[in-house]
Amino acid sequence: MENVVIIGTGCAGYTAAIYTGRANLAPLVLAGTQIGGQLTTTTEVENYPGFPDGIMGPDLMMRMQQQGEKFGARIVYENAESVEVIDGGFRITTGSATHEAKTVIVATGASPRHLGLANEKELIGHGLTSCATCDGAFYRNVPVCVIGGGDSACEEASFLTRFASKVYLIHRRDELRASKIMADRVLANEKVEPVWDSTVTEYITDDKGEMTKVKLKNLKTGEENKLEVKCVFVAIGHVPNAQFLNGLVNVDENGYILKTKGTQTNVPGLFTAGDVADHVYRQAITAAGDGCAAALDAERYLAELEG
Ligand code: NAP
Repeated sequence: MENVVIIGTGCAGYTAAIYTGRANLAPLVLAGTQIGGQLTTTTEVENYPGFPDGIMGPDLMMRMQQQGEKFGARIVYENAESVEVIDGGFRITTGSATHEAKTVIVATGASPRHLGLANEKELIGHGLTSCATCDGAFYRNVPVCVIGGGDSACEEASFLTRFASKVYLIHRRDELRASKIMADRVLANEKVEPVWDSTVTEYITDDKGEMTKVKLKNLKTGEENKLEVKCVFVAIGHVPNAQFLNGLVNVDENGYILKTKGTQTNVPGLFTAGDVADHVYRQAITAAGDGCAAALDAERYLAELEG
């Protein structure tokens, strides 16, 4: 039986691997479908401490992986499909194997929701993103748009006014879902122009594949038009990747894993870290901090089991 199985290889999973590795727990890490997590879909990361000149997202994740492996983490390219409680621990079933472990750290992250338009995958990193904090500073003095009407969309739109020449806030209704204070703040900003009752039906690119325009449809009148933007920030919510746990742990109304104490879930020995349990901060550094905390919690839990 393994001491610890870590599920996920974003900042949280790899940091948990580094810490449990250094604690001589020989962690087994299940890489999942998106190896390296959300940062592998971004370009330059300018806000991760220790890299004053920035670092490319995939490069940062590769370094975290190497650091984990240096301390004995074993990374297998499997995707966890279920976790069940067994005598003395857990059984984790992947597409190709089963593993048994005394503790499990779930660090499977969250996936930004997208509209499902044709060329979305190719456009990520080329004018389509879900993270204003990560990418906003690359779009100085050019028009951009945010899609969504919740707190995230308002927060992102407000943040983007620091850089962009104009921020269109495209929402499918004529009333924001966001809290009043956030909605009032964003609508009072003269750089923000709301586009009500509208949905984006197409992303239009130049011949280099960079975003140049969005095609809009007014849902009330059916009228269509185009808007020039250099970047689209999609803020229509995230989906926490906790479905594979199939109700084993308690989650909130949006599916985010709930913690009882520290990184502990309601199931003893099952810990969680990063975006799968955090819809508030959602930063690489907070996920890494969480991964560290989960590793320390798992280590203490194992010491108590054996003590
Ligand atoms: P959210 O509240 O679920 O809002 C999602 C927005 O996207 C809604 O306006 C929704 O439109 C729109 N949307 C969803 N699917 C869409 C689609 N297919 N096409 C077009 N629009 C679509 O998500 P969120 O803003 O990420 O917030 C998640 C949670 O985090 C919330 O509880 C929020 O309060 C919290 N949060 C808090 C803060 C803060 O307090 N600082 C910051 C960020 C987030 P409808 O309104 O028409 O449904």
